[in-house]
Formats: sequence, C-alpha cells, structure tokens
Amino acid sequence: MLKVVIAGGGTAGWMAACGLSTRLAGLLDITLIESDAIGTVGVGEATIPPMRNFHRIMNIDEQEFMRETQATFKLGIEFDNWGDIGDSYLHSFGEIGQRSWMAEFHEFWMEAQAQGFGGSLEDYCLELKAAKAGKFATQIDDSRLNFAFHLDATRYAKYLRKKSEQAGVRRVEGMIKEVQKDPQSGDINALLLDSGELIEGDLFIDCTGFRSLLLGEALGVEFEDWNHWLFSDRAIAVQTTAVEEPRLYTRAIAHPSGWQWRIPLQSRVGNGIVYSSRFMSDDEAKQTLLNNISGEMITEPRLIKYRTGTRQKSWHKNCVALGLASGFIEPLESTSIHLVMTAIIRLIRLFPFGDSSDALADRFNEESRTEIETVRDFIILHYKQTNRTDSDFWNAYRTMDIPDSLAHRLEIFEKNGYVWADDVALFRVDSWVQVMMGQGLTPKGFHNAGKLTSSDSLQQSMAKIKTSIDEKISKLPTHQQFIDHYCAAPQGD
Ligand SMILES: Cc1cc2nc3c(=O)[nH]c(=O)nc-3n(C[C@H](O)[C@H](O)[C@H](O)COP(=O)(O)OP(=O)(O)OC[C@H]3O[C@@H](n4cnc5c(N)ncnc54)[C@H](O)[C@@H]3O)c2cc1C
Repeated sequence: MLKVVIAGGGTAGWMAACGLSTRLAGLLDITLIESDAIGTVGVGEATIPPMRNFHRIMNIDEQEFMRETQATFKLGIEFDNWGDIGDSYLHSFGEIGQRSWMAEFHEFWMEAQAQGFGGSLEDYCLELKAAKAGKFATQIDDSRLNFAFHLDATRYAKYLRKKSEQAGVRRVEGMIKEVQKDPQSGDINALLLDSGELIEGDLFIDCTGFRSLLLGEALGVEFEDWNHWLFSDRAIAVQTTAVEEPRLYTRAIAHPSGWQWRIPLQSRVGNGIVYSSRFMSDDEAKQTLLNNISGEMITEPRLIKYRTGTRQKSWHKNCVALGLASGFIEPLESTSIHLVMTAIIRLIRLFPFGDSSDALADRFNEESRTEIETVRDFIILHYKQTNRTDSDFWNAYRTMDIPDSLAHRLEIFEKNGYVWADDVALFRVDSWVQVMMGQGLTPKGFHNAGKLTSSDSLQQSMAKIKTSIDEKISKLPTHQQFIDHYCAAPQGD
C-alpha cells in the first residue's frame, strides 16, 4: 500500500487526510503529523459555496457539520467603503437575473436603465435580496439557494480529525526536526521527529503552514512574492460575543489603511483587521480594530504575519504542498480554504500511483497556477478600482500597475460591458459584474441584445423575475429560525 505522510494538522492537513482517506480508502496508508507546540493559524472562518461539493465528496453530513463547527449560513460578502467612503455593495453567491446565450443579464438591465426602467441590479438576485432581508432556507419552491458557511476553524479541524481517524488515518503528535532526502533522486524519504521516531513515506503532503517545511525549506521551491500588487502582510484577529442575530454575509469594512472582517458564528463573532506594515503600525491597526468591534472580547488580539504570493510549484519531487505552505492571498473573498479543497480534488484525480509522476506534477502545477492567478486578479480588482483618495494606502493602490490579465478584463468591461469566466475559474461572470460595478466601474457600452425585444416585453420579463424573487423571500424564515431548526440535535441525542 502507498504510504502517504501529511505534515501538519491545520485546516489543510485535516482536509487532506479526510479527503484522501474517504475517497482512496484501501489504497493508501495515511499518517498525519502535527505539533501541539506549534499549533495552527486558527483563523479561516469564511467559506464559499463549492465547499459543499467537497463535503459531499467526503460524505459529510451538513447538519452534523454545522452543529460541530457552530456554523452559520453565508450568502455573500458586504463591502463597505471600498469604491469610495460611504459606498456599500454586496457580492452575493447568486445568479443575477437570466442571461441569454448572446448576452449577460447586466447588459439587458443596462438597456432597461437607458430606457428609464429596471430599478437596481440587486433586485434580480435571490441570494442577495435574501441576505439583506436576513431570511434563509436551503431551498424555496423550485430554487436551491447557493450558499456557503461561516465556521469555527478550530472546531472544523477537530471535526475533520475525528472523521479522518475513523477512516483509518494515523495521527502522530510531534515536532518534525529533520526532512530526510534520497541523495540521488532528491525525493523525501522520511521525516524525523523530536522523539526520534522516523516516519517514512512514498508521497509527502506539506501542510506545515507559512513555514513550508518540506516544499519550501527542504526542497528549496522558491516563493513568488505578490506584495507589489497586494500590499497587506499582517492581520490581527480577535473573537467577540455576538450582539445581534447572525448576518447572512461576511462584512469587509475598508479603513484608511486596511480593512476589517466580521464573521458571525452561532455563538460568537470572528473579527480581524488586514493591513500593510508599510502603511500602518501594529498599534494603530489594533486600535482601529478595537474601535470597530461590537460585543465583549473573548480572546486577546492576535497578530499574524504573512507573505502574499505562491510557491513557484506546489508539487515538486514526491511532495505536494497544500494550504498556507503552498501560498496565500489575503482573505478578502474567502478563497484559501477553497484552494485547499480544489488542490485535494486535483491530487486525488492525478494521484501518482505509478513510477513516473513528472507529467502529473506538471499538470497539477499548471492548473493550480491558473487558478491562483485568477484569484489574485479578482482580489486586486477590489483595491485598484477605487475612487478613494483619502490616504497613501488607497492612492498607492489606485495608481499602481496591475497584471496584464486584469488590465485587459477591466478595459473590455469599461468599454463594452463584456465579462467572461475562465475555464478553471472560481469566479463566475456574476461575481465579476457585482464587484466591478460595486467598486464603481460602469460600462460605457454593452451588448445591444436588449434592443431585439420590445420595451414592453423587456419590462415585463424583468418585472417577472423581480416579483418571483420577492414572493420567494416572503416565504423564507429568518436565518436564526432556520439555523435553530436545521442544527437542532437529532432526536435521541
Ligand atoms: C488572517 C487570516 C485570515 C484568514 N481567513 C480566511 C477565511 O476567512 N477563509 C479562508 O478560506 N481562509 C482564510 N485564511 C486562510 C486559512 O486560515 C488557511 O488557508 C487554513 O487555515 C489552512 O491553514 P494550514 O492548515 O495551511 O496552516 P496552519 O493552520 O498554520 O497549520 C500548520 C500545521 O503544521 C504543523 N506544523 C508546522 N511545523 C511543524 C513541525 N516542525 N512539526 C510538526 N508540525 C508542524 C502545525 O502544528 C499545524 O498543525 C485566513 C488566513 C489568515 C492568515
């Protein structure tokens, strides 16, 4: 049986253990090493909808998962003060209106606007309106809502650990002291622990967090720094008691030199500030955060330092890095856990069962690269496309050069209203539209498909979408009511 050694037991390590042990059961002998002395990064509480597919793959019962991780439902992210001070928009997970094969819905809506009707684009998205109304169910009439979760990261790792151990994963507690390599091939042979125990393996999965102990330190795969596009390099996190019913969205509140998150769980709120040490001191950041939280603090504020960027390869020799060990982009769109998940699925599909795995590694690296670059561009968009002029931070972002891929996208949208989603892309057309327009970029032109139909018929079909959304929302319970029902302990417990 192939021996897989997972180094690190944070969210990435336990997701890998759970995914591999569930899907490749019987083919692999899996050991996970984690050090209680080092601990995990312990943040990472906002997710995006594809997580639900991963849970299905891991045979995870959604209600049990929500109970165990104190999770709430999430329908999007609200961005306050991003396009300009006082602006607010919601990037929701839902589809906006109805597209045609020829043109996107926002282009029909722009035609309607030109003709003097149509209202707000937000009125045509079920998830967005439900989020704002604080109403939720997983399904209403014939519509399934596209949702994700806010979860407790520490509880999530524990939950996955329980599942993985039940599926046969062996957990070893201990500090990895040395990574032993084969002098000829350069492959990793074994990990030597502080205790003297030697853990040998065929494939090593590096989930050691920012340290990247195997891929970065032992195998020397370089880190590609993206700090010139994404300046933030620090965060301070603090948990508080809840003072209101949980909202259905993460809040991302921009400040003069950084931004702050608020993530509502069932019984507490996760808060944090993300900033750049070039533009704000740690003390200022902490004060800004503490001035803008509600409820009582239940943890001490914790500083986390990081680098933004990616390892040049995630798979090198017989080592695959996942999570923070392979790279990191700030949590603005809750993409890190998602990237762990897609990497695990990719690894399962490209699993190196034979002797030669170089071609598989190349394929893995190529797909991972495209994926993370798209995420990078999407995050840069939030900073670059702004009218804020109130600080050095925003001025630096507004005037910086951006990757050609993003510049091309922004130009086409501004001139022609055209948006597309790449093949391996995480963000769909509606995500780009919501964020570009939310940040204040209004297209000057758009596809004229809306002129092919009469004004009356365009008006009627748009009104129909709006009315149907309003009717559905009127039947939904509140978010809290739905959680109480959905997460109630099963009878007999
Ligand atoms: C400020 C911040 C906010 C974030 N928010 C979000 C979010 O909202 N949504 C999202 O999707 N993601 C978010 N993330 C990212 C998310 O937290 C991570 O992707 C996720 O937690 C995975 O972390 P990890 O498992 O790779 O690393 P870690 O949690 O750091 O785990 C590393 C593991 O390696 C072990 N280890 C390290 N060295 C050794 C050694 N020598 N010997 C033995 N064991 C060792 C540690 O004990 C630990 O178990 C955020 C990240 C940051 C920094």
